[in-house]
Amino acid sequence: MHLARFPRIHLAHLPTPLEPMPRLSKELGIELWIKRDDCTGLSTGGNKTRKLEFLIAEAEAQGADMLMTQGATQSNHARQTAAAAAKVGIDCHILLEDRTGYNNPNYNTNGNVLLDHLHGATTEKFPGGHDMVSEMEQAAEKKRSEGINVYVIPGGGSNATGALGYVNCAFELLGQANEMGIRLDRILHATGSSGTQAGLITGLCAMNANIPLLGIGTRAPQAKQEQMVYDLAVKTADKLGCAGVVNRSDVQANTDYVGEGYGLPTKSGVEAITMFAELEGLLLDPVYSAKGAAGLIDLARKGFFDKDERVVFLHTGGAVGLFGYDFVFEENRKWVSI
Ligand SMILES: *Cc1c(COP(=O)(O)O)cnc(C)c1O
Repeated sequence: MHLARFPRIHLAHLPTPLEPMPRLSKELGIELWIKRDDCTGLSTGGNKTRKLEFLIAEAEAQGADMLMTQGATQSNHARQTAAAAAKVGIDCHILLEDRTGYNNPNYNTNGNVLLDHLHGATTEKFPGGHDMVSEMEQAAEKKRSEGINVYVIPGGGSNATGALGYVNCAFELLGQANEMGIRLDRILHATGSSGTQAGLITGLCAMNANIPLLGIGTRAPQAKQEQMVYDLAVKTADKLGCAGVVNRSDVQANTDYVGEGYGLPTKSGVEAITMFAELEGLLLDPVYSAKGAAGLIDLARKGFFDKDERVVFLHTGGAVGLFGYDFVFEENRKWVSI
């Protein structure tokens, strides 16, 4: 397997650090490490940047004049795509779906939305429940009929090209562990549009790493989530020339921490944000990484991990979203006079 065969541009600060989380480990009674993909560097970082290294290279190879993508209002993927487009000098148009119904001004204009606009992207808003895939295809066709060469990036950058970014992350993480002499027993992360987990599992299986990977769901029910990840892993392995390397049983998702729905914060997620912030000085986001961390915390408390297990939490980023969800954290405000 040879990733350098695929066109790629360099957008991310790599390798991202692999660090211990001593205070959280003590609190939860297992050895926890964190892979800092929140530090990929592009417009505050996050997991979409690794995918965009391959996607934007493909867009450039096709001579694209415009990138088009879609996501929820506070989409981290939209923000990183807007920044990548700015960096390579291609126009960017983003279709944003209102999946929460919040009319809070910060939710609608701050956080990721503020940065989309700062990077020069244009945005277009749609009500929740819209078929965003066909909406984007129509928008792309319209622009093409005007003579504009549009490169469409699916939501979350999750296709076989984007997933190569997480095959690369699997190589990087295993290389770091080997170099540092740290045995990894399990990897956990928040899973959504599935490219992160599909790329990781493809890379891990191709290296025969034998490290179980668990995605913590943020939207879809378990059967659907696992199927999405598996289908994309199959395509990714095909693209890489190692077809058949991923078995269905390698794809595991736990979707017990989604709560009421995508983008709607949960109590356990807010607790996870507070614990990471207060014990490790780390920022999670309410839509993805907090739900992933809520799964990690709850599973640790339930004794899901062996006592001597070393668990890596892949931090997928998203902290910019906190500024769109500030109203969720009223209880954390401690104004005191000493
Ligand atoms: C998009 C995103 C995820 C989910 O990654 P997928 O590849 O879409 O499954 C997790 N965390 C954050 C912060 C994200 O923005």
